[in-house]
Amino acid sequence: MIRLSLVILYILFTGIAVAVFFLLRERRIKKNYGKLKHELSHRIGEIGEQEKEISKQKEKLQRQIELSEEQNMLIHRQTMELEKNRHSLEKKVDIRTQELLAAKERAEESDRLKTAFLENISHEIRTPMNAIMGFASLLSYKDISDEDQQLYINRINKNCQMLLSLIDGILDMSKIQAGQMAIIKSIFSVNRLLEDIYDEHKGQWDDYGKPEVDFKLVPISKGEDFQIFTDAVRLKQIIHNLLSNALKYTEKGSIHFGYVPLFNSDYDKEPSQLQFYVEDTGIGISAEKSNYIFNWFNKIEEDTSKLYRGAGLGLYLCKELVELLGGRIWFNSKVEEGSTFYFTLPYLNTTEKKIKKPLKEKKAGKTADVSYDWRNKTILIVEDEQNNIIYLSEIIKRTGAEVLEASNGQQALDILADNPDISLILMDLMMPEMDGYQATKKIRKQKLRVPIIAQTAYTNAREREKSLEAGCDGYISKPYNTPELLKLINNFL
Ligand code: ADP
Repeated sequence: MIRLSLVILYILFTGIAVAVFFLLRERRIKKNYGKLKHELSHRIGEIGEQEKEISKQKEKLQRQIELSEEQNMLIHRQTMELEKNRHSLEKKVDIRTQELLAAKERAEESDRLKTAFLENISHEIRTPMNAIMGFASLLSYKDISDEDQQLYINRINKNCQMLLSLIDGILDMSKIQAGQMAIIKSIFSVNRLLEDIYDEHKGQWDDYGKPEVDFKLVPISKGEDFQIFTDAVRLKQIIHNLLSNALKYTEKGSIHFGYVPLFNSDYDKEPSQLQFYVEDTGIGISAEKSNYIFNWFNKIEEDTSKLYRGAGLGLYLCKELVELLGGRIWFNSKVEEGSTFYFTLPYLNTTEKKIKKPLKEKKAGKTADVSYDWRNKTILIVEDEQNNIIYLSEIIKRTGAEVLEASNGQQALDILADNPDISLILMDLMMPEMDGYQATKKIRKQKLRVPIIAQTAYTNAREREKSLEAGCDGYISKPYNTPELLKLINNFL
């Protein structure tokens, strides 16, 4: 029994043990299963994340692929563009190279012209200088006759004039090239201006040595006259240059000059332009040369059997001045038959325009060798240049006038205060300490009416206006000739 009980107990015990064993195993399995499930879901989650990441990366990659395709396209387009640019750049380089070559040629041409210009200018300066020095030294000989003495003096004067006009031409050229050529317009009678020019040339006709040439100012039809509003000095300079050329290149026949009014229509009462002309029967200009005679320094020798003097500036200045005045210049010519130069200037109806009238100024007028008697007059020379003082005081003393001298504006004021009966002041404009403008203004401020003539070596066109505005009554630019100066002074005494 006991044995049985023991067996049963054993079996029971064993059964319990087996049951506990299975129970424990199941619990462990369950636990492990839970753990595994948890891990699995965690892994699934992770895989999901990774999938998301992968799809994101895929999208990114896709975008990058698209971007790189776009960039490829862009690169392609840019390559095409570059290719195009390369072509146009090559073209531009070609054009630029051509331009540079042309500029180089121009620079070489200008260099050549400059050298030729300097050589010619040097010749044109040395020739009159040589004559001046030569005749001046002849004057020092004791045994020369009065007639020869006068001849030498005339030659010296003539050559001085030539030098002066050359210097004026060069100065005008530089002013034009620097864009500083001042144009001062006023109203004046065209007929009167042309008559003055005619008289000036006719007065020296014997000196030109052209007895076979008929020189004439052709009067305008119906005896009309036109008041033009332009720069009289420059207009005179243009006609003068054209006449000088005509004279130079004409040995026989005629030189005629004048002007005609040009109307826009038959109904117009007033012309739109005035057309001036200078006609000669000289050597003429060939067609091939006609293209560049208006260029500066283009001296063309059509006739090589004769040396024509000239710096080659005249026609360049004419063209520039005509254009500055709003006109046009051209010419017709036949070799060995002659040339006619034409130029137009706009005609402005002076009565309709508001025009600033030029300041009144007494001119010297026509000059001749006249002797003056100024015995009861006192003239104050205000001048800082010793040579000029000697010259001025010498010629003025010869008239019997008393001469006082001041070397600057302040001294002039002091002398004037001590000598209120001074008859006239010759006032240099540029002086140290106090210049002529200031001195003149101060004199006018004191209400002193003594006549003042401004004199200056500056050729700036504004100088004249400025001096008249300061209160001067007359103006003369250096170098002046003696009769011209004395005549001007006499106008005020
Ligand atoms: P130049 O001082 O040499 O006369 P210009 O500029 O006045 O200089 O003239 C340029 C060139 O034009 C002259 O060298 C000359 O060959 C030609 N010329 C000008 N005017 C005339 C003319 N009336 N008749 C013939 N040739 C002229």
